[in-house]
Amino acid sequence: MVNPAPRAQLALGDTTVTFLPDGHGWLNPAVLFPASSPDGWSTHAPYLDAQGRFPVSVGSFLIRTAGRTLLVDLGLGAVDFAIPDVATFKGGALLDSLAAEDLTPADVDTVFYTHLHHDHVGWTTNVAPAPNARPGQIVEGLTFAQARHLVTEAEWRHWAGTEDLVGPDPAAVRAPLADVIGFAADGEEIAPGVHVLATPGHTPGHSSLVVTDPSGADDRRLVILGDVMHCQVQVTETHWSFAFDADPAQATGTRERVLKELEDGRTMLAGGHFAGNVFGRVLPPAARRAWASLLPVG
Ligand SMILES: [Zn+2]
Repeated sequence: MVNPAPRAQLALGDTTVTFLPDGHGWLNPAVLFPASSPDGWSTHAPYLDAQGRFPVSVGSFLIRTAGRTLLVDLGLGAVDFAIPDVATFKGGALLDSLAAEDLTPADVDTVFYTHLHHDHVGWTTNVAPAPNARPGQIVEGLTFAQARHLVTEAEWRHWAGTEDLVGPDPAAVRAPLADVIGFAADGEEIAPGVHVLATPGHTPGHSSLVVTDPSGADDRRLVILGDVMHCQVQVTETHWSFAFDADPAQATGTRERVLKELEDGRTMLAGGHFAGNVFGRVLPPAARRAWASLLPVG
């Protein structure tokens, strides 16, 4: 059995990518992965707990490269809630995880959102967004006030005018960002060696980031997936779409495309929702694809 992932770091030359936990979720696998029923998990039992729930990590990736400090996604924020028979979520640790790296919010120069679901925008302001932002809280401003905030234009426009509970809260997230949000396009280099990779399907404007060593000394690369996959099991079961994939067929196609590109032996992968350890690589299919953790799974 695996637990939500701890803080962990990977280096590409002088560039480091660190997973900063904010919290975790415990999900009903039959509801969240409809294609897994009735017995698809029988060969993936280590990813479930004793009650049959599957744990997910929630957090942010810190990229430090060439004097730059970036955060990829902003977790849940300080929330603690249950959706009966579906999931429980708890967040709130991101700033402590950042402090453990000797950083404060003022040190972050860029925030990049892979997409704008509530579990990726939680620390945008001092008010944790959906679904249970505490009543009466006043939005005082952006948590990372000195940072550029970037997302794809398609993702930003997708949520305009919506009140969807899984999306970015209008008051706590969208309004405070409205005047400062910047758009990053597919292929754009947002920091030395850090490129946007469009990976639509989970949401229409979803994107991943490809991190390389800008000096070229280390020729490996790391793909920060966002929600292209929620669990290592999807490396093998690529047709298992997540219940909140906006376009399940497109999401499956994106998984297949990205996984094919990952089988080059020099690409590593970071899954922010992966339990146990967020970093790994994809083994080429002998009989079928498999996951290889870079750290012991405890
Ligand atoms: Zn997510």
